[in-house]
Amino acid sequence: LGGICGSDLGNISFKSSPAMEPFGSFPAVLGHEILGRVTEVGPEMDPGLVGQRVVVDPMIHCDVRGHAPEAWCPSCRAGLHGTCEMAGEEGSVEVGGKVLSPGATIGYHADLPGGWGQSLIAHERQLFPVPEALDDRIAVLVEPMSIGVHAVLRSRALSSPGPILVIGSGAIAFSAIWALRTLGYEGHLVAQAKRPHEVALAKALGADETVTPGDEARSALVATGARAYMPMVGGEVYAGGGYDMVFDCVGSPSSLTQSLRSTAARGSIVLLGCAGQMPKLDLTFLWARELDLQGYVVYGREDWKGGAPHTFEITMDRMVADGDRLSGLVTHVFPLDQYKDGLRAAYNHRESKAVKVVLEP
Ligand SMILES: [Zn+2]
Ligand SMILES: [Zn+2]
Repeated sequence: LGGICGSDLGNISFKSSPAMEPFGSFPAVLGHEILGRVTEVGPEMDPGLVGQRVVVDPMIHCDVRGHAPEAWCPSCRAGLHGTCEMAGEEGSVEVGGKVLSPGATIGYHADLPGGWGQSLIAHERQLFPVPEALDDRIAVLVEPMSIGVHAVLRSRALSSPGPILVIGSGAIAFSAIWALRTLGYEGHLVAQAKRPHEVALAKALGADETVTPGDEARSALVATGARAYMPMVGGEVYAGGGYDMVFDCVGSPSSLTQSLRSTAARGSIVLLGCAGQMPKLDLTFLWARELDLQGYVVYGREDWKGGAPHTFEITMDRMVADGDRLSGLVTHVFPLDQYKDGLRAAYNHRESKAVKVVLEP
């Protein structure tokens, strides 16, 4: 199975920022949310892997590029390969008789086709066997759910006294809500979602309270103790109360404006929504409230229970224990040759009520 991600839609529709273009190579077979089965292994690999059901960490790190360990970049050496600093360069390894093209991710790479196809090649370190207990429709969510897990573990969320607000109703927002709860955040959790099926999902994943944008969101903010003021020009602003942390899983000017205005003094904003260009963004409250604005990308080695597991391993562990709550996330499965219908359902998610659309080769 290959999931359709918001970033895929953003790239296809030219809505994503062009800033990441040097860190991809094209033409590419898209798809970086990948569940598959190993059909063939290289000569030095354990043949026992053949037949194994695996999820693929699509990030291409220095090891995948073929660089010797002493030549790995600082991010890869730290186990945080999601920020591999060599993504704009060719690799040392050859694929198909030529040196590996630049690119950060399978799915945006000219030589390493992604999950919206019948087969792909991956490095052994990118493969993670899927526990028997996980249904395909849960396992295909390991990649997007790991993004929430990584952000919760890398930020101070688990020691936050709360309240925490999660803005958004895409898979990443749900991954943040699920990750907060399944990893042990016990404070008040408010989710901002629009449509009834999204509200139901947010509640099922562990939100204490759901609000729609606008009046309901404002009431919830005021309930934290925030006092509202109306400047002579521009929208309402607040002082006092507020959220200790806001996870902005939309990344639009309006969501970031809301985040900046509803975060408590010395609180944190976590950007998970592929935020790009923001014309006319008012950053006043970033300094006026001494806020901390953080961004996280993908996954890596986590500091977790005395070890350093890969985010995927933690996610699958939690899915085995707590994955039933995720069963409403994959709303649509399309055969690969109906990919246009799949993209349409994902793009028009308001009408289709899609949360996660998946292609089945
Ligand atoms: Zn994605
Ligand atoms: Zn690297």
